[in-house]
Parts: sequence; C-alpha cells; structure tokens
Amino acid sequence: MSYESHESSELQVLNPATEEVVATVPAATAQDVDAAVVRASEAQSRWAALAPADRARALRRFAAVVDEHLEELARLEVTEAGHTIGNARWEAGNVRDLLDYSAGGVERLSGRQIPVPGGLDVTLLEPLGVVGVIAPWNFPMPIAAWGTAPALAAGNAVILKPAETTPLTALRLAELAPEAGLPEHLFQVLPGEGPVAGNALVEHPGVAKIVFTGSTRVGKQIMAKCADRVKRVTLELGGKSPNIVFADADIEAAALSAPMSFLDNSGQDCCARTRILVQRTAYDRFLELLAPAVESVVVGDPADEKSQMGPLISKAQLERVRSYVPADAEGIHGKVPDGPGFWFAPTVLTDIDPHARVAVEEVFGPVAVVLPFEDEADAVRLANATEYGLSGSIWTRDVGRALRVSQAVRAGNLSVNSHSSVRYWTPFGGYQQSGLGRELGPDALTAFTETKNVFISTEA
Ligand code: NAD
Repeated sequence: MSYESHESSELQVLNPATEEVVATVPAATAQDVDAAVVRASEAQSRWAALAPADRARALRRFAAVVDEHLEELARLEVTEAGHTIGNARWEAGNVRDLLDYSAGGVERLSGRQIPVPGGLDVTLLEPLGVVGVIAPWNFPMPIAAWGTAPALAAGNAVILKPAETTPLTALRLAELAPEAGLPEHLFQVLPGEGPVAGNALVEHPGVAKIVFTGSTRVGKQIMAKCADRVKRVTLELGGKSPNIVFADADIEAAALSAPMSFLDNSGQDCCARTRILVQRTAYDRFLELLAPAVESVVVGDPADEKSQMGPLISKAQLERVRSYVPADAEGIHGKVPDGPGFWFAPTVLTDIDPHARVAVEEVFGPVAVVLPFEDEADAVRLANATEYGLSGSIWTRDVGRALRVSQAVRAGNLSVNSHSSVRYWTPFGGYQQSGLGRELGPDALTAFTETKNVFISTEA
C-alpha cells in the first residue's frame, strides 16, 4: 500500500461476475491527499532535474516491468472490473506500450526559437509540477496510464485516484513503479471516494493540473472548481456515438461488426456506437444480419477465453441500465448466464422515438438503438443531434461521402469502415460535452507543460 489512511473508512472491491468481495482497501482522506502532494512535490523536483535520457530509461524500465506482470495485471482487471480476459490483456499491453511511447517523447520534447529583431527568442516547455489523475471504473488501467505516462515523461509527478470500485490494478502499478526504478512517491495511488479524495485533489493548491475521465455531470463540477484557481484541466467525458451505415456500404461487414462496437466491455465504453443509423433502403437487410450476430454474442465468465462479454460493474449500474429498457421493448435480445453477477443481455431497440431517453442519453450498458435515415443530409443531422461528440463510425464505399461526412460530424474520433477509436499514438478526445483537450498521440506530453517565452537582448 502506498499510503496509510487517516480514517477507518474502506472501499470494498467486488468481483462483478460473482458478487464476492475480493478485497478491502482503505479510503484516502483529504489529509492523505495533503501528505501525498508534499511527497510528490519533492519527488518531482528531483525527477525534473534528471537528464532526459535518464527519465526516458526509467519509463522504459517501468514498461518492461509492466510487461513482465502483464498476465497478473490482466487477471486483476478481470477480477475487479469483469472485463473479458482478452480485453484485459490488451489493456495491460496498452499501459506498457504507452509508457514506452511516452519514454520516446522525453528527449523530443523541446521548445522553439522564433526570429525576433535585436535578440534571441526561445520558448521553454516546463513541467507543471504535481498532476492529479482521476480515473473511472470502465477502463481502470489504460485510462490511468493515459494521464500518468505522458505527465511523468514531461517531468511531472502524478497522484492517481482510481474509481471506488476498481482500485486494485492501479495500486499494483504503484507498487511496480519503484520496483522498476522510478523515484519513490513520483507516482502515487490514492483510492478513495470521489467527493472526498477526488475533490481534495481538485481543490489542492499544490496540484497544478487535473486530468479527469468520467461522467459529464462530475466533469462539469470539476471544471467549475478548477476555474476558481484557473487550474489546468483535461476532461474526457461521456458519449452517445453514432454508427452511420449508408446503403452503398458493405452491409454484411457493417452489420456483423456492429454488435461488438457497442457490446465491448458490456457497453461500458465511452466510445460505444450506441446509435446505429441505417439508410432506409438497407434497413431491413441490416436488421436481418444484425439479429443473429447480437444473439450469438457469448456472454459469460470473463475469465473464460471464449467469453466476448462479461457483467456490468455493479448492482447500481445494472439498475441504471434496466431503467432505460422497458420490459416490453421491441427489438433484439441476447442471452445472459444464470446465477450471481451483474448481468444484462445484449439489447438492440428498434422502433424507437429518436428523442426517447434511451436514444439520447448515455446508457453505459449493452444497449443500442437502430434508427433509419433517408439521405446523407439526414444522416449528418441525426448523427449531430446530441450534446456529446466523442466518436463514431461511417460505413460507405463512396470515398467522397466518407470525407464529407467525416468533416460534417462533430466528434473527436471517427472511423470509416471500421470501429477503431483508440491508439496510443493518435490523439483522442471529445467535442462539445464529451470533453476538453486531447490525450494520447504526438502532442500528449505538451499538455503537461507550461510554455515560457524568453527574449535575450543582444543589444545590451
Ligand atoms: P464518475 O464521473 O462517476 O466518476 C469518475 C471518477 O471521478 C471516479 O474516480 C470518481 O470517484 C470520481 N469523482 C466522482 N465525484 C467526484 C468529485 N465530486 N470530485 C472529484 N472526483 C469525483 O464516472 P464513472 O461512472 O466512474 O465512469 C463512467 C463515465 O466515464 C461515463 O460517462 C463514460 O462515458 C466516461 N468515460 C469517458 C471516457 C473518455 O475518454 N471520454 C473514457 C472512459 C469513461
């Protein structure tokens, strides 16, 4: 454990597939956050003073240690988050790869020289100091790393607050960091309640930036609090992403790939393509192909290599998802296992009013709606009829249409004839109420620096 809690309150971690308690961890208090900021600040000064090559080497060693523990980390993710083992391995690999990629940026991070008469003008990129990363439960490991790896690479210290339900992988990563040779306290993990430990990070004057991934509701509160101190903030929030299928597309490929584009991680995915928009002339054919594909998704024990979908994270999430789906809802319904666990069957709703709650709000469960559209303009209008703007897919064989629609849809991450959204080497983030700022990609480190301009007169 990287900290000692000042109070006796605890977080219980359940296995969502069995409902068994798998761990109990102390919940950090505001005092714990204070102490962590002091330690982080000291570690950061020493870390920032290291030669870039030494910082890069330390991060590469951290990546290597994550790789050595990949299976252990993946199994822990299965246990605490109910992710299928295949996904969990990908997630641990994503942490490793992002650490490596960020290490590669350390020596490339540099300012500019701008011509100014009468002297030399240079920009310096300085680390911010201590960065607070507040992570959700839906992808506990990768999202923790998306804030942490580039922040460390840019010379900052990080205090990570994982979600209440999923602290275990983060705590394990915090143990592995010093084993890999990262300075003590440079990367600390404080599990705790959002309004307590999370809020203490947001309000702490010693924390220079907050990277928050979670709901739009909490993101707005955090942004407002950051405004009090003009604290830097990156927000990765909710989504209600469209999957637009034109009649000229490969309808079979579009229909067969659609289920996992919203069922992956049991639909608890900010990029889930939960609004399936299909051109009316291809609508019946699409549904004919979609129904058996949804019904045959293997839902079961996430530790079983054959499972494609596991449980929801918690009872509360199960009840939330149920509240969106009327008992007599028209549509396609998959199967779930009997017995304990927070299971919800894959569900596609048809004949839905485009203004219904389920068609406009983020359900964060294995539920999608299918809506017909007439033409390209109608498709774009429907796709943009949302307060969100995180991702989306466009299926067409017409290159001109693919480009036109990609330009017209207001979202940060689009894919054409594919559902791929996340690569650690390309930028990721949302338009509108899906977020603020970008993570990952070639500019990720710069988001953790302050630019200082220095002019040196040659005329003095
Ligand atoms: P959440 O907003 O309830 O919680 C997220 C984190 O914030 C948790 O660690 C929580 O403890 C903390 N928190 C809660 N209240 C807080 C407060 N007042 N002050 C500080 N911290 C606080 O979200 P969630 O239910 O854990 O995650 C699901 C949401 O995350 C979905 O809306 C999903 O779309 C979004 N998400 C977005 C992305 C993205 O990259 N855009 C990625 C994954 C998840």
